Amino acid sequence: MFKKILIANRGEIAVRILRACREMGIAAVAVYSEADRESLHVRLADEAVCIGPGPSKDSYFNAANIAQAALITGAEAIHPGYGFLSEVASFAEICSTIGVKFIGPPPEAIEKMGDKATARATMKKAGVPTVPGSEGTLSSEQEAQRVAAKIGYPVVVKATAGGGGRGIRVVEDEDELLRVVKIAQAEALASFGNAEVYLEKYIRRMRHIEVQVLADEHGHCIHLGERECSIQTVRHQKVVEEAPSVSLTPALRKKIGDAAVKAAKAVGYANAGTVEFIYTPEGEFYFMEMNTRIQVEHPITEAVTGVDLVQWQIRIAAGEPLTLSQKDIAWNGHSIECRVTAQDPAKGFAPAAGTLSHVRLPGGLGVRVDTQIYGGYTVPPFYDSNLAKIIVWAPDRAQAIARMRSSLQEFHVEGSPTNISFLQRILADERYVNNEVSTAFLPQLMSEVGLAL
Ligand code: ADP
Ligand code: ADP
Ligand code: MG
Repeated sequence: MFKKILIANRGEIAVRILRACREMGIAAVAVYSEADRESLHVRLADEAVCIGPGPSKDSYFNAANIAQAALITGAEAIHPGYGFLSEVASFAEICSTIGVKFIGPPPEAIEKMGDKATARATMKKAGVPTVPGSEGTLSSEQEAQRVAAKIGYPVVVKATAGGGGRGIRVVEDEDELLRVVKIAQAEALASFGNAEVYLEKYIRRMRHIEVQVLADEHGHCIHLGERECSIQTVRHQKVVEEAPSVSLTPALRKKIGDAAVKAAKAVGYANAGTVEFIYTPEGEFYFMEMNTRIQVEHPITEAVTGVDLVQWQIRIAAGEPLTLSQKDIAWNGHSIECRVTAQDPAKGFAPAAGTLSHVRLPGGLGVRVDTQIYGGYTVPPFYDSNLAKIIVWAPDRAQAIARMRSSLQEFHVEGSPTNISFLQRILADERYVNNEVSTAFLPQLMSEVGLAL
């Protein structure tokens, strides 16, 4: 096992990884930008190295500085967390070149899944169902028109290098198509350095259901069941997630789980990963993409399976075999996560920054809070607006909802607007309580209550 790990991230996920290291008796090195000096992950770490100024391109995306920090501190492995360098194949390669283990999949697997159009093609070949759409990226305007006419409107234009809900545009009819494709290509080039886009059929009233997989470096791969992530903003950002999905039957759970394992095996996957699916109102499911990293909402899977995913990531990277078999995985009770953000619902969810003069976190039986904040913490302006994740567990969904409502009521922050009142609205909505939701629910709710993004 490693003696020292460098955590190439910030915020709550850095704290989460730090805790796994500590429990395993591994020393943890934090890296931080100048804006994150006072952050909790820096305070809790065994060692901390400043890797550059506030803007993330100069610090958390600075592969050279992070690699040097690992070498200087003698870290044997790097955990990339999510976002930043976690899905950058060349960073995994740099790690390997300098003899530091990247805690994640092999660079080849990141590459195969990182380009979404390539991933679709790979999945199709492997026999995993994909949404009807273009074969690979669009090579001409004529192809866009031909494919869209064939699959029928509406369609989505997606950047093959997109992520985090960005690079997705819905097209309602042929008149819009060429204009939107051009805009999408220009945006994709500017945001991701890659202008390639592809088409998919737009599935109305879909649910986003994703499957957690764990694979070791010796060819053994299992799934840990699904997460329902259909409560998303208009910009496709997840807000509330839960496990298990009450929409699936045990037979469907097995089918979608098997498909996820097949997807992972098709790219020689190792470590933790998530296969995202579209689940249609007709009960069909299609591969959407694979996130080759730990995911924001991983704790709800931990809550219902009792498996510590981050500890397994570390063990797998250290070459240990995955000693869990598929039949060891059982799902107990129900878990819900809410993402608490420093965003002002009244101002179009504008991100806020500033000092949190007072923080009161919820607690109690079945309540977990993963966060970097504390009273006196200053939210830097450079990063995402996540303040905390509240994860509740209870024996059933109704009790989990009650527990989440109670936790949201306890949660109190002074010094910055938050989305807490908005989360309360969601948890109080009858459609949510009755599980009558799809990805269209939250945009609908927002327009009903007069909130815009
Ligand atoms: P996951 O796929 O793990 O659920 P998301 O899709 O929410 O995570 O986010 C993917 C990545 O985008 C994450 O690494 C996260 O840090 C980043 N991200 C999420 N929300 C925002 C935001 N509002 N602004 C900037 N980055 C974000
Ligand atoms: P990202 O890499 O940004 O996470 P995804 O491909 O996972 O991109 O899609 C993000 C979200 O966009 C999905 O969770 C879903 O809400 C919506 N979406 C993606 N593809 C489709 C589709 N074919 N039809 C309808 N909605 C879609
Ligand atoms: Mg996604």
